[in-house]
Amino acid sequence: MEELLLDILSRLRTMPGSDALPSVEVERIVRAHNRGIRDNAHHLSKKRILPFYLHVRESDPDRWQAWGVDGALETRLLRTLRMKPRRTASGVATITVITRPHPCSSNCVYCPCDLRMPKSYLSNEPACQRAERNYFDPYLQVVARMRALSQMGHATDKVELIVLGGTWSDYPRAYQVWFVRELFRALNEWPDVQGAAHERYAHYRDCGLTHDGGSLTAFVADEQAKVDAGESTYNEAYRRLYGKSAPHRAAAAIMSATTGELEREQRRNETSAHRVVGLVIETRPDAVTPESLTLFRHLGCTKIQIGIQSTRQEILDANRRATTIAQIKRAFSLIRLYGFKIHSHLMLNLVGATPEEDKQDFATFVSDPGFLPDEIKLYPCALVSGTGLVHLHEQGLWRPYTEDELLDVLVADTMATPDYVRISRMIRDIGADDILVGNKKTNLRQMVEGRIVELGLAGKVRDVRFREINQDAVDLDSLVLGDFAYETSVSREHFLQWVTPEGRIAAFLRLSLPHWDALSSGSRNVDASELPTRPGDAMIREVHVYGIAAQLGHSDVAAQHQGLGRALVSRAKEIARDAGYVRLHVISSVGTREYYRHLGFGDDGLYQSVPLAAPETPSTLA
Ligand code: SF4
Repeated sequence: MEELLLDILSRLRTMPGSDALPSVEVERIVRAHNRGIRDNAHHLSKKRILPFYLHVRESDPDRWQAWGVDGALETRLLRTLRMKPRRTASGVATITVITRPHPCSSNCVYCPCDLRMPKSYLSNEPACQRAERNYFDPYLQVVARMRALSQMGHATDKVELIVLGGTWSDYPRAYQVWFVRELFRALNEWPDVQGAAHERYAHYRDCGLTHDGGSLTAFVADEQAKVDAGESTYNEAYRRLYGKSAPHRAAAAIMSATTGELEREQRRNETSAHRVVGLVIETRPDAVTPESLTLFRHLGCTKIQIGIQSTRQEILDANRRATTIAQIKRAFSLIRLYGFKIHSHLMLNLVGATPEEDKQDFATFVSDPGFLPDEIKLYPCALVSGTGLVHLHEQGLWRPYTEDELLDVLVADTMATPDYVRISRMIRDIGADDILVGNKKTNLRQMVEGRIVELGLAGKVRDVRFREINQDAVDLDSLVLGDFAYETSVSREHFLQWVTPEGRIAAFLRLSLPHWDALSSGSRNVDASELPTRPGDAMIREVHVYGIAAQLGHSDVAAQHQGLGRALVSRAKEIARDAGYVRLHVISSVGTREYYRHLGFGDDGLYQSVPLAAPETPSTLA
């Protein structure tokens, strides 16, 4: 591989100007190197050269320096070797990071207890493996993921950060601020991250930590055995393991930052080449308070993932979820009124549930004004070792649904999904080896979609995910702007969507018009005085434009798509103003602040906002 790379570099040096090598020339050089390689031996290919180059640059600086690649030559090399840049369906690269192992104050019966991980995660889930290899360090995790995305040819100018790992608010505040500061710093510094990354790895090694899987298994083995046998809880074992561990305590010495340091990285990111266009944080309903949500906003959070699992108290109790329906509904109201998007988790096949009751549960979730999420992870409960569910299964108190039952429930749920809800997943990222009993099919969603097609129901599906245009070309002139309005217990919501004649979505916006009169009268589960906004304020909770053309200001098509977003915002302003609202906020992400400044929004506390001209005929607030 090295010889092939050196040949390409030498060819680039002899080429005048600043061009990349044409693809045919690269293919010719690759073919020349493959000549003489026997049939069964590993052949070289263009797509493997760039990962090799980046790997050596990262891990073997002396060898890399011997190649004599300066900045200009490297730019040409990257242009030569990069595969066609790809975008994800949503137009945004996603980076999932995991926080360090930590207890959870709940102890749900189905929840995994892997002591190498924060509660509820398993060490062989892909993001968890990456986190563990990088000592759960946020900077290193982002660097690893950016490297992988770049090597796969993904565009990374717009990044959504998803922070997973138990209940965020249970971590010390200084850790929360540090963790997020490091996420922003890594994106701001990419790709010049080698020095900082090496220093960080050295810190963990010097503290005596390891990221070797075998050593980590040995580290937790005794305590894990007690947890798996039901003799100890995760939290008790965690405290014995990590509470006294000198290496972990020494490593934690750097895990603190001030809000001033965080804000500095956020300001840099506003105009960085790799901007944070979404920051998702995970929490529990009982941990949602005005104080926690205010901190989330300071961190730059735009979406909250929240475990709900069921809308029925008896099911929550049977599964030992330490939460009440009243807490869940208040959490929904608070999250919505603070402007966040609500990404909830709902579980099928919990202890005490039946397929028919699960269908009803979902129907309640998307029709009761106290719930009404924006996105749902809808997945079946599975049996994982070390959980309380194992004993219930042994006693015959829980059984997994058959495949047919599961498909039947998921089809019914999909068909009950309204226009504004996106079912983001139908399985959890648990490997088949970790599932003792339960669904192991990773293509469950395709099976559900297949059954929907068989039943002739495809034309009736409203789930956002089902209708996204993805990478398909779309005739912009054919798009129609629709408005799906609905009532929640604290607001009137407008889901504005640009749709094709077939109903497929090219862009959408979520507008919340709070019921200020009711919120001020004390008749709701949230009082107006608990909110950072004021009576008369409306809120844009999300603007999303799909597709390859959503790249930040690079092409004509992009400009057209930005036009879709702009038109959505204009329509939201009209709707809010006509309903009597006087100010429109947007819960912008750090990396989209510039975009909203161009649209006339000014920085305004936790949000950006624009005043709305008074309506010609005053109307009462909804
Ligand atoms: S609240 Fe979440 S992390 Fe905590 S025990 Fe329950 S499922 Fe696990």
